[in-house]
Amino acid sequence: MSVATAAPSTTAAPSTAAAPSATAAPSATVTADTAADLAGCAPLPVLGRDVTVPLVTGGEVTYAALDQAASAPALQRVWDDVAAYAPYYGSVHRGAGYLSQLSTDLFESARRTVADFLDCRTGDQVVFTRSTTDSLNLLASALPEGCRVFVFETEHHAALLPWPRRDVTVLDAPDSPRQAVETLERALADRDPHGPALVCVTGASNVTGELWPVRELAAVAHAHGARIVLDAAQLAPHHPVSVRDLDVDWVAFSGHKLYAPFGSGVLAGRADWLRTAEPYLAGGGASRRVGRRADGGVDVEWHTDAARHEAGSPNVIGVHALASACRTLTEAGFDTLVAREQRLIRRVREELADVPEVRWLSLFGDDAPRVGVLSFVVEGWNSSHFAAALSAEYGIGVRDGLFCAHPLVRRLLGGAAGHRGECGAPDAAPGERSLNAVRVSLGAGTPDEHVERFVRAVRELVRDGARWTYRTVDGRCVPDTPAA
Ligand code: PLP
Repeated sequence: MSVATAAPSTTAAPSTAAAPSATAAPSATVTADTAADLAGCAPLPVLGRDVTVPLVTGGEVTYAALDQAASAPALQRVWDDVAAYAPYYGSVHRGAGYLSQLSTDLFESARRTVADFLDCRTGDQVVFTRSTTDSLNLLASALPEGCRVFVFETEHHAALLPWPRRDVTVLDAPDSPRQAVETLERALADRDPHGPALVCVTGASNVTGELWPVRELAAVAHAHGARIVLDAAQLAPHHPVSVRDLDVDWVAFSGHKLYAPFGSGVLAGRADWLRTAEPYLAGGGASRRVGRRADGGVDVEWHTDAARHEAGSPNVIGVHALASACRTLTEAGFDTLVAREQRLIRRVREELADVPEVRWLSLFGDDAPRVGVLSFVVEGWNSSHFAAALSAEYGIGVRDGLFCAHPLVRRLLGGAAGHRGECGAPDAAPGERSLNAVRVSLGAGTPDEHVERFVRAVRELVRDGARWTYRTVDGRCVPDTPAA
């Protein structure tokens, strides 16, 4: 979509030079960081790549954002598109003015961009939400009466928890993609074949990064008359997602993990359940006509398209940003991005292969295909302590904890019993289990230098220990003396 199509169809495009340009080339130049990257395979420019942070040991270093599975930095192009549109901001679906019309057209064209990005089928709906969590809760509110939901225990809490408790069957963690398919097959074969059913599955684990056999699971679901929703929160930023090819009924993802941190998300897929469900939010925008009934009550006719579940003033900036990210990733060439990311993950794994203290968490085995998300524990270390040292001594941001996937991480750590301890105290003794893990995650904007620094930091911390002392404050591990 270009500004020409973003302009209200009934009026001329804005004449100012600052008109939103969805097709402009990224304005940022590639930094020195990336000079050593493979030709034609440079990271995409993102905001924050030049931000420096203080080290507790002295000096400053550029921040290495290696917690992209939580939230990814905005693409420069997304930021440029948002900035170009911002002066033209107006209400959506409710104004006669020029900017309202422009904003409405921009909002609706973003829907088409997302539908293209996801390779949706004709007739699929794209509903804009706040996030993946919001999208899955919306779908949960639209389940037909008596719908049984099947979900693996390995899911992120956003996919595990929205469903009515009594209607959920939680499936045991499989130890291979094949076992996942067999487990689902058995569970669906045992169900009441007459009632509706939904399977919810992730495309890529937010803990191990491993890819799930989505197409095969969809085939099993459909063979048993069930529907399937794909949680693509971790897949969409790293891998093309084709609703048509995977044959999933719905897909959910978040803008903030797709380099567009402006508060929007998506639920896309089959219109039927959504069209007949009660609106997710009741209010203006979702209703086509509202009147008074003869008995004094309120009579309402709801929209039957996506607007039914988008009551209230929509987040047009967030949606515009999300569409911009979809376009940028597509235009950059997903194959190139995937190849680059795979090279970086291989590098992490290979260069730490001779550090036996590092144990990678994996459900499907070391060689399983994965996106750029890796979790690990380090023998002799409390994971919070390790993550704090990476931050304070190397300027590397990772995440420690259970990553909102408690059952999965506990299973991978070997059960609930283990060492927690204060982060500054002696850490888990050799052979003792850690109660949480460290997660490192990359994105399309990650320069090689961040990965190199991470590998060096892990090697040095394991070999030499932390150079600083740390203590636990309010449950967080922090350097004893705050960085200047
Ligand atoms: N699903 C997966 C696999 C995730 O990793 C996450 C977030 O980390 C979510 C769902 C929830 O995403 P959000 O917090 O954007 O709603």
